[in-house]
Amino acid sequence: MPAQFEVYCPACHKGRLSLSNSTCGNCGFTARVEGGILDLQPQVRGEDYKASSAENLARVYEKHFWFGSRNRIILDVLKRARRLLDVRRLIDLGCGNGYVTAMLEEAGYATLGIDMHIDGLRIAEGIVGGSLICAMLEDVRLVEPVDAVCLLDVIEHLTDDRQALLQAASLVRPGGFVLVTVPALMQLWSRYDVTCGHKRRYGAKTLRDLFVECGFEPLYVSYFFMFSVLPVWLQRRLLHTGKKNAKIAGHGYTRPPHPLFNNIFRLLAAAERLLMSAGIKIPFGTSLIGLARVKYSTFIEEAN
Ligand SMILES: [Zn+2]
Repeated sequence: MPAQFEVYCPACHKGRLSLSNSTCGNCGFTARVEGGILDLQPQVRGEDYKASSAENLARVYEKHFWFGSRNRIILDVLKRARRLLDVRRLIDLGCGNGYVTAMLEEAGYATLGIDMHIDGLRIAEGIVGGSLICAMLEDVRLVEPVDAVCLLDVIEHLTDDRQALLQAASLVRPGGFVLVTVPALMQLWSRYDVTCGHKRRYGAKTLRDLFVECGFEPLYVSYFFMFSVLPVWLQRRLLHTGKKNAKIAGHGYTRPPHPLFNNIFRLLAAAERLLMSAGIKIPFGTSLIGLARVKYSTFIEEAN
């Protein structure tokens, strides 16, 4: 039986809503339920997320080294968190089409996927067993806080990343965690980032400072995918300078590299993961992962 997550009514902040009870007992606001999706913003129907077919995405996720290798690193870092606290319930914030949400569920976590785009969630609904919520982050107020919130390649898209992290922390119990992955190194900034809607790439120090600024305790910050720095730099600096290559720049992760390179990268990622587990510092990489502890949760307990 999938875990049930309850949220406070976005209209009156008093009544409680869940998939099985989508009408607020206090003010009568009714969330839209679509399969496993609780839609808290039925008045907004943005179609800005250009979803490919679910099958196409699944194929890319299965094949492209980047997705599988990043998943394993995410699970490793969650294991680190579990040395300090028993992490069971977590949120995949900005879950998109639910690919990572499904992986986290499979690893045994009770996971709630939240995203503002209904199109991605419709794809997620096919692969995720638990609850999904369609809402703006600021409209989500949980009845029970979770142990960790994951923002996986999310905050680089936001103008105010600090505000997003603080809002994420309001969903976490005191002593819980915020887990973040972001694209790394501004030196790799290219047209690809613009196409993806990135506002910035991060350095290890920037991310750590951001955690501290939010009042979090940084526990672990590491680069990963070191081996892909040179290929990415070459590809994006040299090949994508011409106009005709603008379209190629947009492909990014939507198609896997040549099978030979894809397999080599997968092996290198596995080796890098071993180094990370052994505590060896990865000096740079195309991505960063950061785990921070929310010392003083801003989770608001509602008075009844
Ligand atoms: Zn209400």
